[in-house]
Amino acid sequence: MAPSPDRPVEITAATRHYRGIFQRRSAAEIRELAHTKRFMERLTADPDFRLALAENIDCPAKAAAQYGLERDPADVPTLWRHDHLKWRHSDARNRWPRAAAWDDYLAEMFQHRDMIREEGATEAIHPRFDQWRQRQIRRAYSELGASAHSVVHPIVAFELSEGCTVGCWFCGLSAEQFVGHVSYAEKASLWQGVISAMSERFGTAAQTGFCYWATDPCDNPDYDKFIADYYHLTGALPQTTTAAPLKDEALTRRILGLFSQFKTVTNRFSVLSVKHLDKIHAAFTAEELMGVELVMQSKHALSSKAVAGRARQRMEKLRRAGKSDKISQLEIDHTTIACVSGFLVSMVRQSVQLIVPVPGSDRYPLGYRVFGERSFDDAHAFGAAIDELIQIHMTPDMPAHWPARFRSDLKYAPLENGFKLTSRCLEHVIQNDACGHSFGALLAAGNLTVRELISAVVDAGVSPMVAAEFMDAIFATGVLEEFGSPAEFDIDMGPVAPAARAG
Ligand code: SF4
Repeated sequence: MAPSPDRPVEITAATRHYRGIFQRRSAAEIRELAHTKRFMERLTADPDFRLALAENIDCPAKAAAQYGLERDPADVPTLWRHDHLKWRHSDARNRWPRAAAWDDYLAEMFQHRDMIREEGATEAIHPRFDQWRQRQIRRAYSELGASAHSVVHPIVAFELSEGCTVGCWFCGLSAEQFVGHVSYAEKASLWQGVISAMSERFGTAAQTGFCYWATDPCDNPDYDKFIADYYHLTGALPQTTTAAPLKDEALTRRILGLFSQFKTVTNRFSVLSVKHLDKIHAAFTAEELMGVELVMQSKHALSSKAVAGRARQRMEKLRRAGKSDKISQLEIDHTTIACVSGFLVSMVRQSVQLIVPVPGSDRYPLGYRVFGERSFDDAHAFGAAIDELIQIHMTPDMPAHWPARFRSDLKYAPLENGFKLTSRCLEHVIQNDACGHSFGALLAAGNLTVRELISAVVDAGVSPMVAAEFMDAIFATGVLEEFGSPAEFDIDMGPVAPAARAG
């Protein structure tokens, strides 16, 4: 149920953990961390600073002073000196307590990220949705490469504007030009009804939601009012990620003020150039940005870009021109910036899509897949729309009329009692003495429906119950192709190839 004045919001384990990160440390310790953080930001973003450090290796404080940094880099050598990296995660790290304190803080932050993924679980309150989301999580670990571990699969994202004024060349979602935003005065009641509809169905999992997508929060001057409502209705202040923190400094400060008050998740500013970093550091003190991760998107930053949206288009253009397609310093098989396994809601268009993250590709250039879409006029219609999307696309078993085949990115190899599938980053070994080999061969051939495949295995002498249970077990691992509508699969599946028969 959605909270009411008599039923206060529930503070979850993730929020308690997050608040604990700040409460367990003294003000002096937080201040120390804030200045180590500022040093790390300059180090990651600014190639000239890295050069200055290299030139002043015996007295790096000189380089730090040139950039107005309080942290003496000599106090944290394991964070930046190649010859000290080997001690970063060993007992010897305690020789540099400020660096060790930073790594302890990061470890707690990563733990929080993993807790958010867990927070999206709805096994008790909505098992049907949970079964679907857990399958998408398993698929993502197998399909998304390096991106998989940072994706927390929030169950919902909201757009409070249409398009984006920033126009980043690398935008993984290829955001369109800015068109406009929803006003809180006009939409507050619908907004509260929509959030409540999510809370009623998904309980505290609604706390994983956030309020931007192919939009920038700072394009909506009422953004802080919308997220304040979100906190009061769900118990969590959504994460804010903005590439325009200086556009309306008063708005940004209101967002930071809400963070200080409610502290549920770290915010993020995208830094577009070294000059942008200079301005952000000039506008906000190290202490003010303690709750903000700076995501370095500038040219020589030690970071990577997801191969999706406009970044992917840029790479293709470079390749076509016969040039290197390297667009970032780090290349780590970063496949998508999409993270939601659930609902993408536009409050401007009053529409909701069911989406999942996938690697950017010709078929899914924006790095996410849309299973279905509905529109809504009011909160009741919104609830009905998500119920319908769940009903249609989250069937408890794999529909009998679906083609039964492996995901196209998987390489198949038969085993004596099963099969091995290899993805870009994982190996799946699936075995069953009674029918593992037959299932593997038939799924690899991919020209039967689920019903036909189970019949073929049963005809070869396997018990119907064993065959059906094994089919369910394979489906749950996320290695099978999933279909949004009949239009997505071949209507004429052709004759069954002899090699694909069971037995
Ligand atoms: S990355 Fe974000 S800020 Fe940049 S264009 Fe895309 S939506 Fe806008």
